[in-house]
Amino acid sequence: MSLIKSWVETANTPDTDFPLNNLPYGAFLSEEGEAHCGVAIGDMILDVTALEEAGILQIEDEDEVFFFGDWTDFMALGPKVWAAFRTEVTALLADGNEDAEGLVPFMVPQVGTQMLMPFAVSEYTDFYASKHHATNVGTMFRGPENALPPNWLSMPIGYNGRASSVVVSGTPVRRPWGQLKGPNDDLPRFAPCARFDLELEMGAIVGQPSDGPVTVQKADEMIFGYVLLNDWSARDIQAWEYQPLGPFQSKATATTISPWIVPKAALEPFRTTTPDRERPLLDYLKEPAPMLYDIELEVGLAPEGKAETVISRTNYAAMYYSSAQQLAHHTTSGCPMRVGDLLGSGTISGPEKHQRGALLELSWGGKEPVTLDTGETRTFLEDGDTLTLRGAAKGDGFRVGFGECTGQVLPALDDPFGGAK
Ligand code: CA
Repeated sequence: MSLIKSWVETANTPDTDFPLNNLPYGAFLSEEGEAHCGVAIGDMILDVTALEEAGILQIEDEDEVFFFGDWTDFMALGPKVWAAFRTEVTALLADGNEDAEGLVPFMVPQVGTQMLMPFAVSEYTDFYASKHHATNVGTMFRGPENALPPNWLSMPIGYNGRASSVVVSGTPVRRPWGQLKGPNDDLPRFAPCARFDLELEMGAIVGQPSDGPVTVQKADEMIFGYVLLNDWSARDIQAWEYQPLGPFQSKATATTISPWIVPKAALEPFRTTTPDRERPLLDYLKEPAPMLYDIELEVGLAPEGKAETVISRTNYAAMYYSSAQQLAHHTTSGCPMRVGDLLGSGTISGPEKHQRGALLELSWGGKEPVTLDTGETRTFLEDGDTLTLRGAAKGDGFRVGFGECTGQVLPALDDPFGGAK
């Protein structure tokens, strides 16, 4: 597949995340201080809310789909509307559109524009679907004999996370306090997390509701698009709290998503199959078609005021389960899914050391510090560090990218209970 040309010149360069082939959905703060829906094209944003208000764009016979500057109402309208809208916006922005000049007043530069949450997260579930990640973490937490739990090759393991702490890229994240326990102490103490970490993930956004179990095929059709996702993790809190019910406060501080939802339609040319099954899956989990994507990913770490080092490079195609399989499994109990449900893929790690998607693995539990280009080392995140996830599917002379998923670590509060005893 090759580049589709736009009259927006910056959309035709090979290094932009946002060629006409992409057209991802975001929300931004307009000049008037209102939330608007926008579509990224090159280094610009097409102001969809303003286009709707001007009567240039209309979604079927609906009014004010984009009025609130949030894509949730649009998602709820379903795949036929998603496809028709994409066709219409493609025509507006395509090279040769004779009405291009009339659209110029609806273009906003991305530089200097504040991005907002593009949809209301109704629920958030996080999975654990990279075999390399699960094996590495299991080896550190339980030893090599019990690294991969016995259920792991049969089902996508997940837990119900917090929608309330999902934030958009650029939002600072404060180091949490929690119960910590050393290897030999009898009693835990309440202290700032000393092992604060990132997790490189993809987030799948559910755009259609379900009531009862759905097939993997149906689950794939329900997915609206994908974002990059950083599941900030407090490893010392996690190690003490996770048995027997899984992570709780260690994962509840914040989850950062990239501001642009890349539509599933833009990723179609990059579909790929999950790796070979090491144990046959039950029928309800079998993929009827390729449902992973070939998306190159990287993590950058910049100490405060200093240059960034890329500490990890991997690919989404390394995952053992696709988001469609995870979503299908999620519904088996009859659990209803809602418009705006967010599914974290789980940390994406490849087989090589430089492909690991968390500092826990990169530093092997803190034993092997990572050296940055500045000469500093890291086992876990330090205050002031800025983490940036990037990702793109690579076509012939173009890329379908996600923009940056970034956040800076703020120091822990002096005392979260203000001296109360
Ligand atoms: Ca995670």
